[in-house]
Amino acid sequence: MRDLLRESAASIAAFQAERLRAMLALCARGHPYYRRVWAQAGIDIASIQTLDDLARLPLTPKRDLMADPESFRLQLPDLPLHERVLWEVIYTSGSTAEPTPVYNTTHDYHAYLFQSRRVAEISGIGADDVIANLFPLTAAPMGAFVRSATNAYAAGAAIFAALPGAPLGPFEVQRPLDYAVRSVERHRASILWGVPSFVRRVLLRAIELQADFSSVRMCAITGEASSPAMRDELRRCLTALKACGTTVFDRYGSTELGAFAQCHEEGSWHNPAPEIQYHEVVDPDTGRPLPDGTRGSLAVTHLDRRGTVLIRFLVGDTVSLERSPCLHCGRHGDRVVGPVARSGDLVKIKGALVNIAVLLDSVQGLPEVDELQVVVGNVNAADPFSGDDLVVRVATRAADRAVLAENIVQRVQDAVRLRPRVEFVEGLSIYEPGVQTKAVRFIDRR
Ligand SMILES: [Zn+2]
Repeated sequence: MRDLLRESAASIAAFQAERLRAMLALCARGHPYYRRVWAQAGIDIASIQTLDDLARLPLTPKRDLMADPESFRLQLPDLPLHERVLWEVIYTSGSTAEPTPVYNTTHDYHAYLFQSRRVAEISGIGADDVIANLFPLTAAPMGAFVRSATNAYAAGAAIFAALPGAPLGPFEVQRPLDYAVRSVERHRASILWGVPSFVRRVLLRAIELQADFSSVRMCAITGEASSPAMRDELRRCLTALKACGTTVFDRYGSTELGAFAQCHEEGSWHNPAPEIQYHEVVDPDTGRPLPDGTRGSLAVTHLDRRGTVLIRFLVGDTVSLERSPCLHCGRHGDRVVGPVARSGDLVKIKGALVNIAVLLDSVQGLPEVDELQVVVGNVNAADPFSGDDLVVRVATRAADRAVLAENIVQRVQDAVRLRPRVEFVEGLSIYEPGVQTKAVRFIDRR
């Protein structure tokens, strides 16, 4: 099979344009949402022939998918069985609304296996690896959990699951934290696969229990934003455990995108499969594509899907793109360049626009800080006009809390020019109620 990542930019673009024409033709026949939107805009879809032509199609805002996910499924009963039968449904983790289903046919599942094999190759995951799936059991099937097995199958690796998560339902299948630690030991896991805050909890507990983590060589993290300080903290824990490696592989991705892969730590993210998806960075107001290297909103276009299909879909992240050959591994194709700014990261506090990621980064990774949360509220909770109150909530085992509080105030002031109050709390109060595997880092109570 061809490996587009080893072909020229012109060859990749020609391949993608051909796939795009076929994908748009399927949508024009059987995609309820795009049939309606394109008809309203008076677009003749047969006139979209190249990747450049794509700019004439409207962007797809996330809220449209959330409002009516069924209308994003191809409805084509004449397709072969494997292109129309439903293999799995995974849900995007909506922070406010109901989670949104993304439908995958057998064809899409195979495409994900293909993409995962590339991710494994790029990030150096192979047949000798034993993966510890540390993602939680959640109320709706989340991509990170469901796809961990798919990633292992694609890499030819072994996998087991620790099944953390708060009790849910009558069957008591969730396992405690110590089970995760002991399973990593028992199976000689080489890769810890999970949400950064929970991977860190497992590592900290392993240090307490003096567990044998010498087989671990990598933490593969995704599912919540992590800062450079957080990743350094994971490396510090791995070193303390005498793990045989300290690689932190930060996967960028989403339910709609799948995973992007780093070929080296802290690097940009390769699109592992330009065969199945095309990316643009756009001006979200006009839909105009921006030149490579310019920061803007990431839009994805599926080139070869049969379940949920998205064209020029706004992922909700601000990034830039690179298409020059990678200096580290020589692969071609597009790469997403961070820092990844999620919409909603900028918040107005006391009249100033504050980047919450920068604020968190200033405190995360202080060795004395076990857990961290930032809360913005009103000085007088009952009075919405009483001004903003910025609180940094911290869980710590440090004896001298006064010194730590002073240190935190200073760091936050240096980072965002605001003076916070510091509250010391129990670590578990920082986790999502009911899902004690995912930390809630920011709350706006106003
Ligand atoms: Zn590379």
